[in-house]
Amino acid sequence: MTAPLPLFPTPTEEVVYPAPIKAVEAGSPAERAGVRPGDQLLRVNGKAVTDILAYRHLLTQGTAVLEISRPKSLPFFANRQDHHTVKPDDEAQTFTFSVEWEDPGLEFEEVLFDGIKKCANKCDFCYVHQMPRGFRKSLYIMDDDFRLSFLYGSFVTLTNLTEQDINRIQEENLSPLYVSVHTANQELRQDMMKWWKLKVKDPQAVNIRGMIERLENIDFYTQIVLLPGRNDGDYLDETLEYLTSRPNVLSAAAVPIGLTDHRKNLAEVHAFNREQAQDVLRRLNIWREKLYAERGTRFVFPSDEFYLLAGEPLPSEEDYEGFPMLENGVGMIRDFLGSDGLGRDSLPPLPAALPSPMRVILGTGLLFAQTLDQAVEPLRAIEGLSLEVRALENQTFGKVTTVAGLLTGRCFRHGIQVAEADLLLVPPTTLRYGTELMIDNTSLTELGEFLQMPVRPGGSTLAELARIILEGIQSSGPQFGMSAHAVKESQGQSNL
Ligand code: SF4
Repeated sequence: MTAPLPLFPTPTEEVVYPAPIKAVEAGSPAERAGVRPGDQLLRVNGKAVTDILAYRHLLTQGTAVLEISRPKSLPFFANRQDHHTVKPDDEAQTFTFSVEWEDPGLEFEEVLFDGIKKCANKCDFCYVHQMPRGFRKSLYIMDDDFRLSFLYGSFVTLTNLTEQDINRIQEENLSPLYVSVHTANQELRQDMMKWWKLKVKDPQAVNIRGMIERLENIDFYTQIVLLPGRNDGDYLDETLEYLTSRPNVLSAAAVPIGLTDHRKNLAEVHAFNREQAQDVLRRLNIWREKLYAERGTRFVFPSDEFYLLAGEPLPSEEDYEGFPMLENGVGMIRDFLGSDGLGRDSLPPLPAALPSPMRVILGTGLLFAQTLDQAVEPLRAIEGLSLEVRALENQTFGKVTTVAGLLTGRCFRHGIQVAEADLLLVPPTTLRYGTELMIDNTSLTELGEFLQMPVRPGGSTLAELARIILEGIQSSGPQFGMSAHAVKESQGQSNL
């Protein structure tokens, strides 16, 4: 009778994370050593490698001996997420080659070899907990991985860090990091984020002030998700008082809580009303003016949603200081409209008339519809062009979700009649990065077949939108999504 397999590696067994190799650069040391796509990197200088950052760090030490395996069988513990134990008698062929101050020429399938790090919190405002069922698995991953923050700018809370992680951030100088602070008041932060004691590996990691100060050589871009009546008002001032006092905190984005109709097992929270949004802007403007006068930067940047909710004019293009937080919804509308606020300075020359009449619908969320409607006014002077901005209710997440980026195929099928236009343009933000798929996996082709009209992504600027309408061409346009999303996609397929 054979002995049962151990469920977990014993402390004496080495855990390695075989990293599948996607491509080998022609003429590189790896190619000369006979490495082929499909092989796996096991170790560098005898050490298991957890991710691309650790790999690159090991290469910076000069001589690097890379151990490669050519698998003949599935890895041992193949079902235990990404932790594969390589037994000494594994049937895989292994070989090594070395480089000295040289790029080996390997491209990996993933940037994280040991899997994505999950969060240790249950935030009152968590979007994952507000997702309806049935979407692709990657959307339910509650990732909180400092490596993705460094690589792609995704926001992390730091509450799941281990002592080893903290040391690593310092040693490898993983700067800047993007951190969700929410509040600098520790009791309030705990109350809002509700981290799980059992999931917190190092009690120091939940102390946001302690972490910012301990990682004093790491730059931080921070984010404050605001909940009305919780961390706004005087708490917001307290947070900015603290963040602005730390030289390694470069900026803060202030974003209102996003709600859906699918909140489950979460504290009762409300959306911002006009007066509350105005109060946030009033407080932030005092900080922005003061800091600009003192330091030449406004430091804190309210998201577009706050201006729309408050009914107040957007800041000028210059006020966004280069749009560093575009992907966080800070400045997207200004960027769309251009410097004159109407997008007219960047519009292509407009014809007096179209060769043949065309009816175009611009589908968007409730929040942006009025602004878009005003912005496209100059195009309405073109004879033969009938242009309608259609404000679509969110049929998937609920009426409370008004942003364009969360519209799904269902919303367009519900809000647009079959064959009622010659062209439908959808916001590029509704599309999954690098694809023509919406969040519910509806493709533009499928939507077009259903609605019996061409469906294309609109532009991320008014000038692009105008060009797409006039040229009638398909344009993928710049898409707001981060490569961290792509990492989650692949993790979702392999891990869940
Ligand atoms: S950190 Fe908070 S918001 Fe982010 S996934 Fe975890 S619980 Fe959700």
